[in-house]
Amino acid sequence: MCTIDDYINEFKETGSSVDSKEIEKFSIYLLELMKAEMNITSHSSVKDIIRENFLDSLSCLQAGFDLSGKKVIDIGTGGGFPGLPLKIVIDSINLHLLEATGKKVEFLKNLIKKLSLSNVYVHQGRAEDFGQNSEFRENFDIAFSRAVAGLPVLLEYVLPFIKTGGIFIAQKGKKFQEEIDMSGEALNILGGEIIDIKTVNLPGVNTDKKLIVIKKISPTPVKYPRRTGMPLKRPLGG
Ligand code: SAH
Repeated sequence: MCTIDDYINEFKETGSSVDSKEIEKFSIYLLELMKAEMNITSHSSVKDIIRENFLDSLSCLQAGFDLSGKKVIDIGTGGGFPGLPLKIVIDSINLHLLEATGKKVEFLKNLIKKLSLSNVYVHQGRAEDFGQNSEFRENFDIAFSRAVAGLPVLLEYVLPFIKTGGIFIAQKGKKFQEEIDMSGEALNILGGEIIDIKTVNLPGVNTDKKLIVIKKISPTPVKYPRRTGMPLKRPLGG
């Protein structure tokens, strides 16, 4: 069986360096995920957790943005993906994790203590509510979100948080083009523009993974996000 070092070394080949302290943190993270009573991740083998959660999260770096010192939010973070692995390798990130489910939030708070990370803040609630809160709205340099909703819905969840000029990196799979084709109206209304689509390079993992890079080009009208449940029920442009 491969050790975590083997997998992290594997990732190094794609251009990201991970030192021994960081590997120790990933080991703690892995143990906590496996110990968790509720299924925090759908992956159960060590190999899958490392590849599909840790390395897949770190693949966001392949979008080519410097996250050092940036104010970053991960929306619908679940077990911390992709935000927490990124924080482990770039300690200067000011990271905010938003998650609706209380049990996942408890898991994250406990985990962050065990990882001795500072400057990470976990918030429990819905994107629709936090996006209307002035402490969060138009307040972030970069946002991430993985496996939360289709792109038109996701744009309404995420774009309100980003400063004009900031970036949203959405992790998407095979159906990315279909999702993009349905997102024109949402992008127009909410003030976003797709500026890049990167194919992710992960050793041993299928290459259907894409990073959709969206720039916030103008402020989001105050009407958005609509109240909880509406973005999903009536997606913009749908
Ligand atoms: N990003 C993680 C989790 C994906 S599962 C990963 O890739 O592993 C989707 C998560 O988003 C769930 O934990 C769910 O509770 C959360 N979520 C869904 N809609 C949300 C919303 N509107 N606001 C906040 N969290 C939301």
